[in-house]
Amino acid sequence: MAAQKNCPSGSLVSFLKDMPLIKLISTDFDGTLIGFSSDGRCSPQFAEAIIEHKERGGLWAVNTGRDLHYAMEGVLKFGAPVEPDFLLTNERDVFRWDAGWAAHGEWNDRCRLRHDELFELTSEIYTTLDQLSRKRGGFKLIYENKRPVGLTTETEELMETLVRDIEMLATNHADFSFQRNTIYLRFCHRDYHKGSALSELCRLENIPVDHVFAAGDHYNDLPMLDVQYSAMTACPANAIGAVKERVTISEGFVSDKECADGVAEAIRHFLELKDAQKEAVLA
Ligand SMILES: [Mg+2]
Repeated sequence: MAAQKNCPSGSLVSFLKDMPLIKLISTDFDGTLIGFSSDGRCSPQFAEAIIEHKERGGLWAVNTGRDLHYAMEGVLKFGAPVEPDFLLTNERDVFRWDAGWAAHGEWNDRCRLRHDELFELTSEIYTTLDQLSRKRGGFKLIYENKRPVGLTTETEELMETLVRDIEMLATNHADFSFQRNTIYLRFCHRDYHKGSALSELCRLENIPVDHVFAAGDHYNDLPMLDVQYSAMTACPANAIGAVKERVTISEGFVSDKECADGVAEAIRHFLELKDAQKEAVLA
C-alpha cells in the first residue's frame, strides 16, 4: 500500500518496474569495507556490487567514525570504481558531494550547537576521567580545540571496564552518551549517532527506511543497524558478536566473508531477494 501511495503515475506495476529497491547503501568504513591490517583498497567483489547498485539508480553513503579529512583520505585510497554520494562522519555529521564535500542542510550546525551545550553541562565527567587517567593509566583523553572529545585505551579489555565507569559517572546526565569502536570512544549527545545521521540523510533525500541497506562491524554501528533506520541490515564475518546479534534479530544478512567481500555478498543477497519479490508482485 505504501508503494501505491507514493506512486507518481498511480500504476503500481510501472512504479515497481522503475523503482530501485535498494535506494541507499550506508556502509561503515574501518572494519567493514577495509580490515585493520589490510592495504585499504577496494575488493573486486565490492567494486562489482557497488557498480551494479549505482547502475540501478541507487545511492551510497560511507557512514564512519572518521572525521571528514580522514574519511576523504580513506575513500580516496579505497579507490572504489564509483564515488560515494554522501559522507557521514564523526558518527554524526552529514555531507553531500557538490563540487566538493559540503554540509547537507543545517544538521551539522545544529549538532555542533547541541554538543557545545552538552560539553558545558558535563564538564565534571571529563575532569574526573582526566584524574582517573593520571591515577590509573591505561587510557588517554583525546582533545580537539582544547576540549575533551573522547578517549583511547591501551586494550579493548580495558575499554570494556572503562565504559562501565563512564556510565556510572554519567548517571545524572541523561543527554550524555558515547560511541565506541575497538579502543576508541567518542563522547556525544544521545540524539546523535550513525542511526540519526542516516535518518537525517534519508529525510533530506526523501528515502523511505524500507529502501535503506546498512552494514557495519562494531558497537558504533549498532544504531544504524536498527530497523528504525535501515530495513536491510548486514555485517561481515569479522563483525563483533553484538553486531551479528543485532543483524540476526533484524532478519539481516550475516556474511561468512570478511570486510568488503562480506558487504558485497550482502548487497548481492538483497538485490536478488528484492528482484524476486518484485517479480512475484509483477507475475
Ligand atoms: Mg567499523
